[in-house]
Amino acid sequence: MGIINSSKTDPNKILPMTYNWAREYYKAGVANNWTPEEVSMQKDVECWKSTSMLSETERRLIIWNLGFFSTAESLTANNLVLAVYQHITNPEARQYLLRQAYEEAIHTDTFIYCCDTLGLDPDEIYNMYNTIPSIEAKDNYVVELTKSVFDPHFSTDGEANIRKFVHDLIGYYVIMEGIFFYAGFAMILALKRQGKMIGIGEQFEYIMRDESLHLAFGCDLIKTIRSENLGIWTPDFQAEIVEMVREAVIHEQNYARDACPQGLLGINSEQFSQYVEYVADRRLRRLDLPKIYNRENPFPWMSQATDLAKEKNFFETRVTEYQVGASLNWD
Ligand code: MN
Ligand code: FE
Repeated sequence: MGIINSSKTDPNKILPMTYNWAREYYKAGVANNWTPEEVSMQKDVECWKSTSMLSETERRLIIWNLGFFSTAESLTANNLVLAVYQHITNPEARQYLLRQAYEEAIHTDTFIYCCDTLGLDPDEIYNMYNTIPSIEAKDNYVVELTKSVFDPHFSTDGEANIRKFVHDLIGYYVIMEGIFFYAGFAMILALKRQGKMIGIGEQFEYIMRDESLHLAFGCDLIKTIRSENLGIWTPDFQAEIVEMVREAVIHEQNYARDACPQGLLGINSEQFSQYVEYVADRRLRRLDLPKIYNRENPFPWMSQATDLAKEKNFFETRVTEYQVGASLNWD
């Protein structure tokens, strides 16, 4: 038995189930189904074309975020399917991974839709992970962090390898999806609050709702592996994770300053950095590690839309009111 390395269970035999929580994530994901075309981009096109509605600062942060997310979503999808999936042998956990992979495809599609409707140059947007150093640094950091599982000879046999696997899961779920997405989320939602690029804003709300489930699933997955392999959670390993988070925060802060050097109406650029620290502390707590920054949330309005106090409670935010009717009758 076990969520990994359970050679005794047939990966095709989903019933009876061991990890009902994984099944719950699957159902929550299905209930949240959405597609980018459901969101009108008409106002965004007007806003983008007008010469007076957006400042240079605002245009820059929109382009930077489209540039980062357009390739980051695809990077996460590839990590999931090519590296994580094969090592999670439990069938109900795999069922959720398949759902998550589909959501990553939806997110990738969202950025195609945004580029198309705004008439952006795909060569510019889809090359920013090469041309913009602060974006390149984030992507390289994640690729570096998740290297072990990408090795074709990697297996999760033995404690040292399980520790490597958990290390890479933290890189993927907690650093990439849990920290590197959040300065961008805050910037785009700050714009939306000012009535600017509200279509993209709404798309980001849907993506955040999905990502909050991905992150929560990832943390529960990590917790389960830990509880089944108690020896991996050594003081050295915990210290290593804290160091990873610290370094990730610096990358995300560099990115935030680069994407939005002047700040926005009512927000100075330092507040994005503070927000990243606040978010990082929450991620550390999720992993049962102590906080390191002790920041107040500079954007209390973000908790309405994304913040993971809502993790168990995500049905309260506005966009979550939209759900596919049939999915509500599953039980
Ligand atoms: Mn995603
Ligand atoms: Fe995700």
